[in-house]
Amino acid sequence: GISEAWKDFEKSKVYMADLESGLHYLLRVELATHQTLVGEELKTFKVFVTVVAKSVLFNSLSQLFPGRHSVVKLLETLLEWLISLPLEKIPYDAILDLVNNKMRISGMFLSNQLQWVGCQGSRVGLRGYPCSLWTLFHVLTVQAARQPDALANTGLEENPKAVLQTMRMYIVSFFGCQECGKHFEEMAAESLSQVKSLDQAVLWLWRKHNQVNGRLAGTMSEDPHFPKTQWPSPDLCPTCHEEQDGIHVWNEDKVLAFLKQHYGAANISPKHLH
Ligand code: FAD
Repeated sequence: GISEAWKDFEKSKVYMADLESGLHYLLRVELATHQTLVGEELKTFKVFVTVVAKSVLFNSLSQLFPGRHSVVKLLETLLEWLISLPLEKIPYDAILDLVNNKMRISGMFLSNQLQWVGCQGSRVGLRGYPCSLWTLFHVLTVQAARQPDALANTGLEENPKAVLQTMRMYIVSFFGCQECGKHFEEMAAESLSQVKSLDQAVLWLWRKHNQVNGRLAGTMSEDPHFPKTQWPSPDLCPTCHEEQDGIHVWNEDKVLAFLKQHYGAANISPKHLH
């Protein structure tokens, strides 16, 4: 059953607590399984931090990760530090040190607690981190489409697939579920090259996420309180669904508009943040 600590949330919202908890888990738990970052892994980590940190560092006014100031500041400092280090390998302990100690002194804070809200599961081991990672990358693809100049001067600005390629590299190198990484890599290899615009990148991730939902429906990965469905359901977005000759079809223009609203900064709720 569902515990008393259950937090109220709305399915029509995205929660900053999930995004911050996801970053916390990524930096303090997932990365910790790698003692040192070298070669491709180090490169992947740098690109990932570049994408989430945007940034003021590059004199860009827009940012991809619409986080709280303290968290964005932390990511920027991490990025500056990674860029300034001419090292070919970085011990994970050094990253953890930076994230934990140096940040706390200057008030650049990333909460120490995992606080799942829209991503809470009906029991431990369900939902949580993987849910937050999907959410993070949907937010990033949408932010990129809404503010095309957000990656200015990062070397990634000309590439509408930059966020998805970052996700692909991250999932393959770091995501704890290797089976998931393998599946995601197959999907990316098959169709990522067809993405030609920032809007298509938003829709590509939506389509692939639904493909994963379809594959996982009814399996052990499914939280019985959160059945895997083709998303968004008609109650979230009635106009996304149409029928042609008795067959369900998506209205992709409506889906794109819905994704941009749902994963837009204005729909990210600060509820339950510490
Ligand atoms: P999630 O699928 O995590 O979705 C999170 C939230 O995103 C949903 O609550 C909903 O609000 C929204 N959402 C749902 N569908 C869409 C969509 N199409 N577009 C936009 N938003 C949507 N688990 C496995 O067992 N096997 C795998 O192969 C596997 N591959 C994965 C690959 C990746 C890249 C990731 C990040 C995770 C993978 N997982 C896999 C985990 C799995 O997809 C779920 O994240 C996990 O089971 C938790 O499910 P959930 O109910 O929280 O919803």
